[in-house]
Formats: sequence, C-alpha cells, structure tokens
Amino acid sequence: MTSVTEFDYCVVGGGLQGCLLAHALAWHQPEATVLLLERADELCGNHTWSFHETDVAEQARSWFDPLVAHRWPGYRVRFPTLSRRVGISYATITSDRLREATLSLAGGVGGAARPGRLVVRTGESCEILSPTAVRLGGTADVSCRAVLDCRGRAEAGSPGGAGYQTFIGHEYETARPWPASEPTVMNVPADQAAGFEFLYELPLGPERVLLEYTRFHEEPACDESRAASLISARLAEADAGSAKLIRTERGCLPMPYTAAARREGPSPAGGYAGGWYHAATGYSMPLAVRFAELVARACPDRVAAEVASAAAEDRLRRGFARFLNRLLFCLVRPEDRWKIFQRFYRVLPEERIARFYAHRFTFTDAARIMIGWPPMGLAPIRFARSFVSLPGPLPT
Ligand SMILES: Cc1cc2nc3c(=O)[nH]c(=O)nc-3n(C[C@H](O)[C@H](O)[C@H](O)COP(=O)(O)OP(=O)(O)OC[C@H]3O[C@@H](n4cnc5c(N)ncnc54)[C@H](O)[C@@H]3O)c2cc1C
Repeated sequence: MTSVTEFDYCVVGGGLQGCLLAHALAWHQPEATVLLLERADELCGNHTWSFHETDVAEQARSWFDPLVAHRWPGYRVRFPTLSRRVGISYATITSDRLREATLSLAGGVGGAARPGRLVVRTGESCEILSPTAVRLGGTADVSCRAVLDCRGRAEAGSPGGAGYQTFIGHEYETARPWPASEPTVMNVPADQAAGFEFLYELPLGPERVLLEYTRFHEEPACDESRAASLISARLAEADAGSAKLIRTERGCLPMPYTAAARREGPSPAGGYAGGWYHAATGYSMPLAVRFAELVARACPDRVAAEVASAAAEDRLRRGFARFLNRLLFCLVRPEDRWKIFQRFYRVLPEERIARFYAHRFTFTDAARIMIGWPPMGLAPIRFARSFVSLPGPLPT
C-alpha cells in the first residue's frame, strides 16, 4: 500500500452533495486542502437539480449563486380542478454547470495539494477506513483531518419501507419558441389510474425545454410508454415546431416512510448517504446546501459533532416528512394520491409552501398540511399493515 498525502478534508463522492461541499469549503476556508474523490469518470452525473430559491439561506448565497444555471420568478401547478401560479422564485443547477465550476475551482482533475487548492480525482472507487482515512482504489491510503461521506444512495439493500419517485426527462430544442416562460412543476393529467403521475416542464431557453415524466408509486419501475405518450402530447399541444431530443435523464428516488434509508459508516455523511434530503418531496438541494454550510463553517475536528447535533435538531421534521410518505403510499389509494397534492396547493399560502420545501416548516405548518377533510379512497388496513410488514412494497 502506498500512501499518504495529508489533506484537511477528504470528500468521498463527487455528486451534488460532494461538489456543493467543495464550493462551500473553498469559500469559508480558502486555506484548507480538500481532496474530492469520485468513482465515476466524471463528476456530477447527468441531472437537473431544481429548487425553490427560498431553500437557500442568505449566508450561503455568495458561494452558491454562481452555480445556478437557470432562474424563474415563479412556477405553475396544474391539477384536474386547480391551476395556480406560485410566486416563489424557482431555479436549477445542472450537472454540466456544477462540474465545470468544480473543476475550475480545482484547476482540473488531479494536481498537487497546496493550501487553498481543491484536488479532484475521478475514476477510482474509494473506501472509507475511519473518520480520518480513506483508501483509493485499493492502492493508496490518504489521511486527513475529516472524511465526509457523500457517496449518495447505497445500491445494495432495501431502503426499508418506501415508495418511489421515478423520472424520465427529455430535453428538446424546438424549431419555434416554447409557449411558456415559467416552469410547470406538476401538470397532472386527468387519468390517474396508474398512481400519481405528472409532467414536469422546465423552459431552459426560448427554444429549449426539459419535459420530465414523474410517477409516485410503490414500485421503482417506470412506465416508459406512458412517459412517451404524455411527453409527445405536450409537445403537440405546445405547437413549437419540430423538437430535437438533445439529452435524456432518468432515475428513481426512494421516498422512505421508515428511518432505515441511510448508509452506515465511520464518518459524518451528507446528501442522500446521511439523510440530508427532503423525504417527502425528493428534493435534495435545501438540506445539501445546509449540510455544506454547516461543515464549511466548522473546523475539521468539530465536524462530526456539529453534523450530529444539526441532524438531531431536524429530527422531528425528518420524521414528519417520512410520516407524510407513509400516508401517501400506504393509506391513500394510488388513483387518489393526486388529491393530496392538489389540496396542498389549494390551501397553503406561499410562505408555508416555501417553508415546507425548504425543510424549515413549523409545527403550525405541519398542522395546516394535515388538517382538513381526508380524501376519498383510503386504505386503512393497508396503512395498519405498513407498520408491521416492512420488507418489499405493500400490495395496492
Ligand atoms: C431523475 C432525478 C431527478 C431529480 N431531481 C431533483 C431536483 O430537481 N432537485 C433536487 O434537489 N433533487 C433532485 N433529485 C434528487 C437528487 O438528485 C439526489 O437526491 C442527489 O443527487 C443526492 O445527492 P448526493 O450527492 O447525496 O448523491 P449523488 O448525487 O448520487 O452523488 C453521489 C456520488 O458518489 C459517488 N460514489 C458512490 N460511491 C463511491 C465510492 N465508493 N467512491 C467514490 N465515489 C463514490 C457516486 O458515483 C456519485 O457520483 C433528483 C433525482 C433523480 C433520480
């Protein structure tokens, strides 16, 4: 085994959380040496990470804002019996933008460690040996003052009780301008027989749009033909001329209703690995930015304690988000799930919506989300069973 360069921080995983952390560290601790390790050949994968601008605290703006690729002053939601514009600014970070910004912070992939310099290594899987050491591709050990686990979701093993959010997104260049200038984050068709499903629409430029089919279901599989038919129906309705497909993204995100969906490891974990994501919306950005700020403002020797204490403070909110998932996936029948989201957007004012997405909701926000007429079509026996039979999806 060869070794051993010392760094202040080793960040394992160069996805959303790892790269945000690299930027926060560069801003708050410009003298710190940081090694960012990614097992894929490139950082950041292939994503469009959207968020409400109110998700990001003022204090994080200076390092975060340059990463934003697109911004809109508001967005729409469309349900069978409700259409609403929400005047909360909405924005997106793309994998391309985040990768480029992270590499430029580092001066490229590889390179030597010196104060103030980020070192990026890709194409090597890495093992976390202890809170202060990692092993690179089985060949070299690196020691540091703090290892941060940003390895995302573990592939192996069941997340315990969970529903799933599956996506297929197609980005198009259109011959004529796209008719909407703001996103539609939920365009819910009347036919909801297959579970809660909708089209997500992001106009990324006058003649560029991302159309993403999304389904909330107890199974992780995506219905490709349903996705294709909803996307082509929207393209036809938009009447924007011929549409050239330029990128596809797809994925599946567990929406846990038990507390089991996290990696176990010796070092503090952020992002999906550490439960720093919003279990009820699937958005990672609010908590990933919070984690990055928290770590970058602590000194390396205090990171583990600060992360544990912040996670403990957020415990009730995380529990409530999982409880909402349990209601959604276990109590409400698939064909009636859309009513929950329609009601959310019908009754909540913008401040409550903003706090909910930002994972900063209060007790009264939680009460307001819960109080009201329950929807038709509940499955109480199934709900009761969800507390005792956790492995595998529940029958619908
Ligand atoms: C299709 C889709 C759309 C989404 N849209 C949004 C959205 O609009 N907004 C939002 O906030 N969230 C969104 N999410 C959720 C969000 O993408 C994830 O929750 C987020 O990427 C989690 O960040 P992360 O850094 O924890 O994990 P990841 O981004 O998955 O990064 C983990 C990285 O660690 C690397 N890695 C793993 N093991 C090792 C190892 N042993 N050594 C080295 N590297 C390793 C992986 O290769 C990966 O690059 C979406 C998810 C999907 C699937």
